[in-house]
Amino acid sequence: MKYLALAQTYEQLAATNRRLEKTDILTTLLNETPSEDLPQITLLIQGKVFPAHDDRKIGIAAKLVQKALNLATGTPTEKIIQLHKKLGDLGDVAKEVTKTKQQATLFSQELTVKKVFENIQKLTTIEGAGSVDTKLKTIAELLTSAKPLEAKFIARTLLEDLRVGVGDGTLRDAIANTFLEGNVEPIQRALDLTNDFGQVAIAAKKGIKELEKIKLTAQTPIKLMLFQKAKGFDDALETVGVPCAIEYKYDGFRVQIHKKENEINLYTRGLEEVTKQFPDVVQAAQSIKAKNAIIDAEIIGIKSDGNYLPFQQISQRIRRKHDIEELVKKLPVVIRAFDIMEVDGQNLLQIPFKERRSHLEKILPKTKSFHPAEQLLTSSPKEAAQFYQQALVKGNEGVMVKKLDAPYKPGSRVGSGLKIKPTMETLDLAIVKAEWGEGKRSQWLSSFTLACEDNGDFKEIGKVGTGFKEKDEEGLSFNQLTKLLKPLITKETGKTVQVKPKIILEIEYEEIQSSPSYESGFALRFPRVIRLREDKDEVSTLELVEQLYDEQKKS
Ligand code: AMP
Repeated sequence: MKYLALAQTYEQLAATNRRLEKTDILTTLLNETPSEDLPQITLLIQGKVFPAHDDRKIGIAAKLVQKALNLATGTPTEKIIQLHKKLGDLGDVAKEVTKTKQQATLFSQELTVKKVFENIQKLTTIEGAGSVDTKLKTIAELLTSAKPLEAKFIARTLLEDLRVGVGDGTLRDAIANTFLEGNVEPIQRALDLTNDFGQVAIAAKKGIKELEKIKLTAQTPIKLMLFQKAKGFDDALETVGVPCAIEYKYDGFRVQIHKKENEINLYTRGLEEVTKQFPDVVQAAQSIKAKNAIIDAEIIGIKSDGNYLPFQQISQRIRRKHDIEELVKKLPVVIRAFDIMEVDGQNLLQIPFKERRSHLEKILPKTKSFHPAEQLLTSSPKEAAQFYQQALVKGNEGVMVKKLDAPYKPGSRVGSGLKIKPTMETLDLAIVKAEWGEGKRSQWLSSFTLACEDNGDFKEIGKVGTGFKEKDEEGLSFNQLTKLLKPLITKETGKTVQVKPKIILEIEYEEIQSSPSYESGFALRFPRVIRLREDKDEVSTLELVEQLYDEQKKS
C-alpha cells in the first residue's frame, strides 16, 4: 500500500472532530488495506510502530528531524529552525520545505507503508558509535522520497505526536464496520484478550469464527479492569448490591503477573513489562500453585516493622535498570493479589468475582509476602465502615467495594468495583506545555500546562506550578521534571516550550470550574501536584472531568 494513501487519510482525520466521521474515514482506509498491511496500518493510524505491550519508544528529538530535513531537502538548518518557530509544528515545516525540494528531485522513489514503518521501527535498534549519524540517514532516506503531505506525517510520527485524534474506540468501531457489519462486541472481546489491533483486524477479516479462536495467553498483557469512585458506603453498597466484598485499597503499584510453566512475566497497567525490576516478585510468584495463570495484584512497599509504605517511596523501583538487587534489599515489597483472569487454560473473565476469588485462594500461597487481598464479605454499612477505618489505620489508601457476581471487564471503568478513599478524586493529567522559570529558577521549567485526554486528543485544562520541590532529595523537583521534559520538547517559543504528552502528574484541586479559557471547557481551581505517575500511562479523560464536575454541582 502506498504511504500517500495513509497520509491523505491522516489529513482527513485531522480535519474533523466528529467521531462518526473519523470512523467512516478509517473504514474506507481499512477496506482498501491489503491483509499483509493491516498490522502496520492499525499501528501507524495511532501514531505508533510498536503494539501497546511493547515498551520500545521511537525516541527521536525534534533536532534530529530538523537535521534530516536539511539533508533531504537542502534547506539550511537555520531556516528550518526559524520556520519551526514560526509555524510551531515540525510536520508543517516538513511539508513546507519538501515542497521546494520536489521541484529539484523529480525522481524520488514512491514510499510504501511498509518502507516508512520499517525505517521508523529500525531507528530503535540503532545503537553505539555513529548511531546518531545512522539514524539521521535512515530518516533522511524517507524524507528524500517523501511528497509534502507524506513528509508532514512522517515528521509527526517520528516525534510521536501525530495529532489526528484516533482513539482505541474509533479504531475498534472502524474494524467492526469494515469486516463485521458494525458488530463491535466480538471485536472488543478479541481486543480485550490481545490488545493487538493488527491481530484482531486480520482475524476479523477472516470472519467471526477466527475471532472467536483468539484466546487469553500468558505473556500477552491485557488491559486491567478499572474502578469508579463511590460517594460513600451507602452509595457503594447500593451500586454493587449486598452482600458484597470489601478489600483494602493498597497504596502500591498495580501489576499483572503472568505465569507460564516456570516462567514469570510482570506487566504494569500500562502493559509495560517490569519483570527485570522485580526479581523478588518473580521469585514469590513461582509459588503460585498452577501451571499457567494470569493474576491481578498490587505490589506494596513495606517498612521493617511490617507496615506499608506509601507508593511514592517505592516508585523508583519501577524505572530502575541497574543495581536492582541493591534496591530490592533497600526497598522490599509484598504482593497482594485481588483478581485472576486465567488459570491452566481456563478463561475466568466471564465467571462471577466470588468464583474467581476462590480460584485465587486455591492457588496462592498464604505467606506474609504474598497472599490474597484482605477481604470482608458483608451486607452491613456499619461493618463496612469499621473495615474501612481498620484499612486506613494500617496505612492503606482506603477500600474497594466489589460486586460478587461481576465478570472481569478488561480496560473498562466499571461500576462493579468502587473505590472509597478519604481524599477527593485526583486527576492524572499530561504535561503538554511548560515555561522556563525566572531568577534562580531560570534553569528549570517551572510552570506546566496540563491536559486531559479526549478520544486520542489532549485538551488543556489548567496550569500547575506549586507542589514541586527546589531540591531533588525533597521529592518531585523542578530539576527532575525539567530533565524528563527536555527530550520531549517539540517546539520552543520565547519562554514557552511545547512537549510530547508523555509525562503524567497526579493533580489535586479545590474545584473544577467551567471555563472558556481552556479547550477542555474546564479549569482547575488551586491545582497542586501530588506525584509523578510513573506507574500509569493513562491520562484522565474529559469524560471523567465532566462527571466530577457534575458530581460537584450535586453535592
Ligand atoms: P485509582 O488508581 O485511584 O483509580 O484506584 C485503583 C487502583 O487501586 C488499582 O489500579 C490498583 O492499583 C489499586 N488497588 C489497591 N488495592 C486494590 C484492590 N483490593 N482491588 C483493586 N485495586 C486495588
